[in-house]
Order: sequence, then C-alpha cells, then structure tokens
Amino acid sequence: MRARASIIVVGSEILKGITLDTNSNWLAKKLTGIGFEVARILAVPDEAGEIEWGLKALLEFSDVVVATGGLGFTEDDITSQAIARALGLNYEFNNEAYKLIEQRHGEDAVKYVKAAYMPSGAKPIPNNVGVSPGFIVEWRGKKVIALPGVPVEMKEMFERYVEPLLQSLTGRISMRAIVVTNHMVEAEVDELVRGLRRMEDVYVKTHAEKPVKITIVVYGGDVKSACAILERVIGDVSRRLNVKSVEKPLECSG
Ligand code: ATP
Ligand code: MG
Repeated sequence: MRARASIIVVGSEILKGITLDTNSNWLAKKLTGIGFEVARILAVPDEAGEIEWGLKALLEFSDVVVATGGLGFTEDDITSQAIARALGLNYEFNNEAYKLIEQRHGEDAVKYVKAAYMPSGAKPIPNNVGVSPGFIVEWRGKKVIALPGVPVEMKEMFERYVEPLLQSLTGRISMRAIVVTNHMVEAEVDELVRGLRRMEDVYVKTHAEKPVKITIVVYGGDVKSACAILERVIGDVSRRLNVKSVEKPLECSG
C-alpha cells in the first residue's frame, strides 16, 4: 500500500496573504520524491482549536503528517501544545530538547525554555540554524512531525533528519520529467495522453503553455526501476505526440 503524507501549515500570516506559503510546496515535492502520495495540504491560523482540528482530520487518512510553523519560543507559538492536545498526550518539558538548545545557546538557553516543551514521548529534531527544535511523535502507528516555519530551518531539519527516516519507511521513490511538445493545443495533447493517466504509479500533467508541456511523475522501488518506468512513459509519450525536448533527472541519464 502506498504511504500517504499530509502537510499542515500553521500561520495566520499565510491566511491573511502576508506570507506566501512556500514551505508546503517544498515539502510536497520532497515527500513525493521519497515515495509518498501527498494526500492534503492544509493551512490553518495560529489558533489551538484550528490546529487540533486540522491535525485530527489529516490523521484520518495519512500515515505521516508534517506540520510547519508556530514552533517557536514566543507565546503565540502554539503548535506543540495543539499537537499534544490533538493526540491526547501531555505537553511537557523534554530534557533532550533542552540539551539541544543548550548545546547551541549555552546560558541563553533559559530564554528559550518554552521551545523544549513537547508532547510526551516526542523525539526532538535538532535545529542547527535557529532556536526551536522540531520533533517526531508516534501515534497509533502514524508519525506526526513538527518543524519550524522559517524556511531555512525547516529545510535543513527535513533534509538532515526527517528525509532519511521517512525514506526508509516508504521503501520507494518518485522521479519526474518534463516533456516539451511541438503541440500548441492542450486539448489535443490531453486526448493523446489519456491512456497514460490510467497507469498505476504514473501521473501525467499537461500544462496549458505554448508549446504544451507535460510533467510526468512515476514511482518505483529504487532509482533504477523508477528511471526504467520513466523511460517507458517518455517513450510512450514520444510515440503519441510530436516531442521537442525532454528534461530528465540526472540520475536517469547515461
Ligand atoms: P518558528 O517555529 O521558527 O517560530 P514560526 O512560523 O512560528 O516559526 P514565524 O515568525 O511565524 O515563526 O515565521 C518565521 C518566518 O518564516 C517568517 O518570515 C515567515 O514569513 C516565514 N514562514 C513561516 N511559515 C512559512 C511558510 N509556510 N512558507 C514560507 N515562509 C514561512
Ligand atoms: Mg508562524
């Protein structure tokens, strides 16, 4: 069965149109890359009830939920508390998290003590860029992962600690390619690629550009098999359409 992941973006600034939510797009691409089916992206305001509601809703159909934002040490950062409440866990001081903050900030760590509070049983994720550690908490065979909202922190923590862990969980990857066609009419391309949309583990998206472009995403057990599937789909597309050029992942060349 395909592992499903969802993303919950916490931040009223997103919903008021102040900040463009680039985190969810970045995470969606990453999670897809390590073999997940990303089921939902949900943005909620900095309100405990909203975060709780969102997390519970996403957990109904997701194996993994990644939260980003509202993890800081200031009073308005409430993601950790809300996650604890949603999961029915205590919100408590995490010694390991505090040690991580101390390692980076020494005596100043006391100022950031709030960032060391997490749901009980949470495993802290080091933050080598900013202050607040993230965490992973297991719940009924699922994983909830909390990361800061600051993009550079979130990305570093995801790539260094979360990605390898989740990769071992899915046991598959995905790859994507872009096909630039010589067709000017999207409807015509849509008609010609229709059969490909019914293939399992293959996603085909036509883009209404002139000329029409197609993005192909395929899933496979490893790089070799994913590349082989990608080549097969590209071959199929090339037989159906007039293709100008193909952009493939570096791993699939040669
Ligand atoms: P932290 O958990 O580190 O405190 P936070 O989300 O609580 O993060 P904010 O002050 O709300 O802290 O955000 C920090 C910075 O990150 C801001 O500049 C904000 O615009 C940006 N940011 C937050 N969420 C996102 C997002 N989803 N996409 C892009 N930028 C974001
Ligand atoms: Mg925020």
